[in-house]
Amino acid sequence: MTDPTRTARAPQRPRRIGARVFPATVTRTRQLTPHMRRLTLTAAEFADYAPIGPDEYLGLLMPRDEAAPLRLPPEGGENIRAAVADIPDHERPDLRWYTLREHRPEQQEIDVDFVVHGDEGPGTRFALRARAGSVLGVRECTALYAALPQARTRVIVGDETALPAIARILEDTSCDDTRVFVEIGDPDDIQSLAGDVAWVLRGDARPGDRLVAAVREAQLADRIDYAWVCGERLAVQEIRRLLVEHGVGKDRITFSGYWRLGEARL
Ligand SMILES: Cc1cc2nc3c(=O)[nH]c(=O)nc-3n(C[C@H](O)[C@H](O)[C@H](O)COP(=O)(O)OP(=O)(O)OC[C@H]3O[C@@H](n4cnc5c(N)ncnc54)[C@H](O)[C@@H]3O)c2cc1C
Repeated sequence: MTDPTRTARAPQRPRRIGARVFPATVTRTRQLTPHMRRLTLTAAEFADYAPIGPDEYLGLLMPRDEAAPLRLPPEGGENIRAAVADIPDHERPDLRWYTLREHRPEQQEIDVDFVVHGDEGPGTRFALRARAGSVLGVRECTALYAALPQARTRVIVGDETALPAIARILEDTSCDDTRVFVEIGDPDDIQSLAGDVAWVLRGDARPGDRLVAAVREAQLADRIDYAWVCGERLAVQEIRRLLVEHGVGKDRITFSGYWRLGEARL
């Protein structure tokens, strides 16, 4: 019998045409866990914002200092990084990528959960200093999750930066057999998710090393129809390699280096 998960082409993710860029205002902040801070943002554009998938993400344009006026690049351009680079240095906001954790269109609100990993990156810095009334820019982006509806087994792997996306994937999608591995630095950062999670504690290891080991040592199903792997770039590359070795088709693996150890993720 033909196996539909093997013969069907991986779905093409819809592309967003003419992404909007707009200002948003922080309305609430909340420390969810020791290293995860939730910012609630409001903007009229959130009323008709149409996420493409469960792990929808946004470009956040954060002013470098609270007193500076918000300067945004023009709308609609394909290359947001180049558009930001064209803004004079003294007015240029910092651009980083974050997942849309919750969307309440009727209230014109979204929640974004920021990992606070120190104060060396503009994303973390903004999350720590933001108060009700702080402004930032939002650039619509897209989503990455691309399992075929017929997928019966899937593996989802990430670290704390991927927790908002993993939470959404578990809430919004289903699959008969789902294995989830999440590496965190602090056991108090464990969140209650809509599914069983193998929590991997980093301890004093390099970020990602214990996650790679957990996937390598796991008894995974012989056949995995879909895998989603996001987190520190080198760990993601290694886990993807392990999954390909296990027999997962490269076209069945969504992966993204959400951040880079020792480097800014521009
Ligand atoms: C599609 C996508 C969705 C994402 N969703 C989220 C999300 O919902 N929540 C979230 O918190 N992050 C998310 N990330 C990851 C986030 O964009 C990166 O962690 C980004 O590096 C944060 O920017 P920064 O300004 O804090 O640090 P950067 O300026 O990028 O880096 C500065 C320094 O901090 C280090 N660093 C960066 N991130 C971490 C970390 N997590 N732990 C330890 N050190 C770090 C870097 O190695 C570097 O040395 C997402 C990334 C992508 C691509």
